[in-house]
Parts: sequence; structure tokens; C-alpha cells
Amino acid sequence: MSGVRENGVIVAIDGPSGAGKSSLTKLLAKRLGYIHIDTGAMFRSVALMARRAGVACEDDAALAELCGGLDISFCRDGESCRVLANGEDVSGAIRTEEIGLLTSCISARKPVREALLSMQRKMGKKGGVILEGRDIGTVVFPDAEVKFFLSASAEERGRRRFLELQARGEAATLEETIDKVVQRDRQDEGREHAPLRQADDAIAIDSTDLSIEEVLELMEKTVRQRLAAAQQG
Ligand code: C5P
Repeated sequence: MSGVRENGVIVAIDGPSGAGKSSLTKLLAKRLGYIHIDTGAMFRSVALMARRAGVACEDDAALAELCGGLDISFCRDGESCRVLANGEDVSGAIRTEEIGLLTSCISARKPVREALLSMQRKMGKKGGVILEGRDIGTVVFPDAEVKFFLSASAEERGRRRFLELQARGEAATLEETIDKVVQRDRQDEGREHAPLRQADDAIAIDSTDLSIEEVLELMEKTVRQRLAAAQQG
């Protein structure tokens, strides 16, 4: 494990969709005073822009060009964090189920992964950050000081996603939502570039039967212990 970076350690949180990464990352970042980087939102932004520009998921040349001209940033807005793509607030537009599925396809393309990899490394290298995604502990920051792999059963993840969709007034059935979760897992785990995989040195947490508070406590304790160890070392 390396020592503490300029602003603290790097915390990587990976796992499948609906495992609770976003809520936990936000809460943990607040407790630690760390920056939260939602890498899924970055891939979703690329998918949204590709759809608007009529770029097909398999068109690597057009995707490379699109990513080359795309600036993605995060901006704090009270308790929430807005996602800006070329200055436009796309926080709401990237959260639909349709964009979620398209993202899963687009995020498997090499030029997209390469472009976002360098953006993510630039954003996180000074530490004091929590990055959530699918390949943070394996590819983006294999040297992160703390890595978690968060999972839950597909049924539970589907149920959580379904409640979120209902709260936003989106039409969906529980069964359909579970199917989409399973489909997205399959695409993310089966792809050639940076597939969803638990890093060998990640701490695995199955949140199926745990409350958010229980998982949060466990994560905070772990990060604080590693931070203290890194400061001493
Ligand atoms: O986390 P979220 O569900 O917003 O991510 C949307 C999609 O973005 C995932 O299904 C996955 O295909 C892709 N993704 C990825 N690598 C990351 C983060 C997200 O491939 N680090």
C-alpha cells in the first residue's frame, strides 16, 4: 500500500448496478470530507451525447471523436452533485433506463474506455476521493489504498431500482426491472475491455441483508484504519 497522497487516500467502490454504490459513496464522501466521483455518470454522459448525435454503439471512430470533444465535470449543488457535459447539466437526462442500457453497450467500446480512463485518473490522482464504478479497483486505480466490492442479490438490486423508478414516476414492473438488472450485469461482466470483476485485494460486502447504515459504518471504519496506517507508514 502506498502512503497518503496529497489530499488523502483513494477509495475504490465497484460492483454491479443497484448494489447501493451511489448512495453509499455519497454518504461516505460526506463523512470523510472526500470528493465523490460517479464514473457511471461519465459513461452515461457519453451515451447520451452519442444518442443525440446519432452515433451507433459499434462506431468506434465516431465514438473516439465524440469523446475527444467532450468535457465532463461535476459540480456540487447543496447536498447533490450535478453532472455537466460540455457545460450542460445532464444529471436528469442520463438517469433513464434507456440510457442505462445504451451506456452498458457504449462503455464496452475501447475508445470510450480509454478516453474516460485518462479523465478519471486525472480527477483522482491526488487522493481524497471516492470513485464508484465497475473497474476502479482493477483498472483505473489498481493501487487505490482502499477497495470495496459491493454486491447484493439480483432480486434485491432489482427491487431497489424498481422503488427508485416508482419514486421518479417512471412506468416499470418489478419483473422487468430485475430482468434489466440481470441483462446489464451480463453485459458488464462479459465484455472484453475492463469487465466488472472484483479486485483480488478488494473487501467484498454483500448488502442484501444489511442496512445502508451498517454498510456505511463498516466502510468508514475500514477507510479510517487504512488512512491511519498509511499516515504512519
Ligand atoms: O453505475 P451506473 O449504473 O450509473 O453505470 C452505468 C453503466 O456504465 C454500467 O452499467 C456500466 O456499463 C458502465 N460503467 C462502466 N465502468 C464504470 C462505471 C460504469 O463500464 N467504471
